[in-house]
Amino acid sequence: MTDHERAIIERLRVKPGEHVRLKDRDPRDSSLFGAEQETKTATDAIARDIDVLQDRLYAEGSRALLVVLQGTDTSGKDGTIRTVFNATGPLGVSVTAFGVPTTQELAHDYLWRVHAACPRRGTIGIFNRSHYEDVLIAKVRKLAPKEAVEQRYDQINAFERMLTENGTTILKFMLHISNGEQKERLQERLDDPKKHWKFNPGDLEDRAFWNEYQEAYETMLHRCSTQHAPWYVIPADRKWVRNAAIASIVKATLEEMNPQYPKVSWNPDDFTIA
Ligand code: AMP
Ligand code: MG
Repeated sequence: MTDHERAIIERLRVKPGEHVRLKDRDPRDSSLFGAEQETKTATDAIARDIDVLQDRLYAEGSRALLVVLQGTDTSGKDGTIRTVFNATGPLGVSVTAFGVPTTQELAHDYLWRVHAACPRRGTIGIFNRSHYEDVLIAKVRKLAPKEAVEQRYDQINAFERMLTENGTTILKFMLHISNGEQKERLQERLDDPKKHWKFNPGDLEDRAFWNEYQEAYETMLHRCSTQHAPWYVIPADRKWVRNAAIASIVKATLEEMNPQYPKVSWNPDDFTIA
């Protein structure tokens, strides 16, 4: 791990039990990185490194990486996937977007659909929203009884521990944007016809609950950033900072996992191809 990667992780990672005050974390902070253009070029190179590491993970075929992306509307979950995994071979990556649960999904416990979407061995799984909606929107919009939501933090920790004990490394990124930045991004969706499809009047209802969501995020970060599945709060008002931070942490994590090409039991010199 490079010193720079270590500094990024150290600054952005939520320590187990830490009480995060989102107001104290500046969404526009770019102090971990240099100039914008150089950082973007470096991020592209990291994306290619991620691809090489992913190839090794796939060849090894015994472990997986789960990347959870959470954030309010317009926080840049889609854009992160597009940039950070831009160079990654599609064969070894799965992306799952979690929306409003279907009737079939509602007929099961809330982790049922999540477990089914977890990455198979050898692959990277990306969650665009996740089981954390069940302690975020479910809490803010009172979609489940208070006591049921309260029990979920421990249930999620136990679920994630089970995944890690069975070969899945977990990274969780909260894309932290400011209220003002969300306003601008929502306005763009109204102004630009090519972005109309992204606009959903329901987003304005959620925006009205901004403070409640920030509070629900803080509780989630406090209760569910564990040794085995840490949360990172990513300054996300500047897209290039967001991408650079997440790409660096993903790369450093894959390097720590250090996947190996399997050793074969035969000798290549024994074969001639006619
Ligand atoms: P989007 O990510 O903009 O496509 O919207 C997906 C919507 O589904 C968001 O409004 C989420 O809050 C909502 N959603 C995702 N998971 C859940 C859940 N478990 N319960 C209720 N709503 C959810
Ligand atoms: Mg939306």
